[in-house]
Amino acid sequence: METVSKLALLTDQMGLEPAEDSDLKRPVAGGPAREARALNPHAKAPCGNTPHALRQAMDTLTHGGGDPAPDLEAKKHSLGVSQAIMPGGRKIALLKTLLTSACERDCFYCPFRARRNFRRATFKPHEMATVFSQMHRAGVAEGLFLSSGVAGGGVRTQDQLIDTVTILRERLAYRGYLHLKMMPGTERDQVLRSMQLADRLSVNLEAPNTERLRLLAPGKIFFDELLRPLKWAHELRQSLAPERFGLRRWPSLVTQFVVGGAGEDDLEILSTTHALTRQLKLGRVYFSAFSPVPDTPLENHAPEDPLREHRLYQASFLMRDYGFELEDMPFTQSRRLPLDRDPKQAWAEENLVDARVEIHRAETAELLRVPGIGPKGAAAIVTARRQARLRDIADLRRLGVLADRAAPYILIGGRAPARQLALFAH
Ligand code: SF4
Repeated sequence: METVSKLALLTDQMGLEPAEDSDLKRPVAGGPAREARALNPHAKAPCGNTPHALRQAMDTLTHGGGDPAPDLEAKKHSLGVSQAIMPGGRKIALLKTLLTSACERDCFYCPFRARRNFRRATFKPHEMATVFSQMHRAGVAEGLFLSSGVAGGGVRTQDQLIDTVTILRERLAYRGYLHLKMMPGTERDQVLRSMQLADRLSVNLEAPNTERLRLLAPGKIFFDELLRPLKWAHELRQSLAPERFGLRRWPSLVTQFVVGGAGEDDLEILSTTHALTRQLKLGRVYFSAFSPVPDTPLENHAPEDPLREHRLYQASFLMRDYGFELEDMPFTQSRRLPLDRDPKQAWAEENLVDARVEIHRAETAELLRVPGIGPKGAAAIVTARRQARLRDIADLRRLGVLADRAAPYILIGGRAPARQLALFAH
């Protein structure tokens, strides 16, 4: 099979894998993730591509092609590369691919499961490294997310992934962004080697605990196969200096949960998220609303509302960046987050309406509890009030605060601010 056709097959379902933030998935005002998902043309295949389109684009890229040269953005798009937002906010063109779509496991939700009948493809490590290197040198892809189906056991598959990125780093001198997946059952020395090669490492836990995982992926073992490699990575980060391996820093660690595929509630998901963030210092937990895949045991299971995924992201950011604890989350009686309001708003309605936050005296932690005030806004308020007295809501607006959202929960100089219609606010 031709290289480009293989790449098309391997990237075809990678939209299901939220590896990095994509600008296509950024929340949209008025109807957050539901709207973003609806706008996302890559819901199934990040490239939105056919093998034919890929072949044409790759021909053009590697041989000059016979077509009128498409512009660079069109090439990137047609090669299965999506825009990803890095932790610092920088956007890069990221190729998300598998080394092989062959898999011996039978996870109930997964398009690559062993018993599913579809055309599979496999790259050898040097092939994958070479094709990505060509794309990188041509300016088509700036970063790589590399995962794989499990073929010949998790340890052997991880060896193949490590071989691929070793060739990329050492033989092909690739210095760019690299997110590497760790397979179920990855061994400790493989974790350490992966840490020396990647900028980000991940293991998909898929479910928040053993019981739920059994309903999604009965062949996977929650602690021994999935959580342990993450724990090893964290322990190694703590015990070994990266400089010893010629690195400036260790890679970040992330994981992913499927949401709504195993009857789990939000309290279960956020309890595990909270523990992982605090204990293993995970950089990020990704949530992926369940979407049934034909020819799988869960094909008749209802898809999950993407708004639930969005609320879980908001709650996880509140716990990671805003000082909220799990107990602060406004769970309903069914242990879910409300869908009609964001969790910070729901918390403020219960806790701040009769105990407003005084903008002139509040600590940063208190400011961060107010809807409409984020870390940048809180820092701007603290700096500004040292220099001059803040007088009204317009002053807050100038500092970048969403002042109309904050107004019901704050005092400015002892007085509840008058709310202005947004129409006249600027
Ligand atoms: S091990 Fe991974 S690729 Fe294989 S079926 Fe399970 S989730 Fe899919």
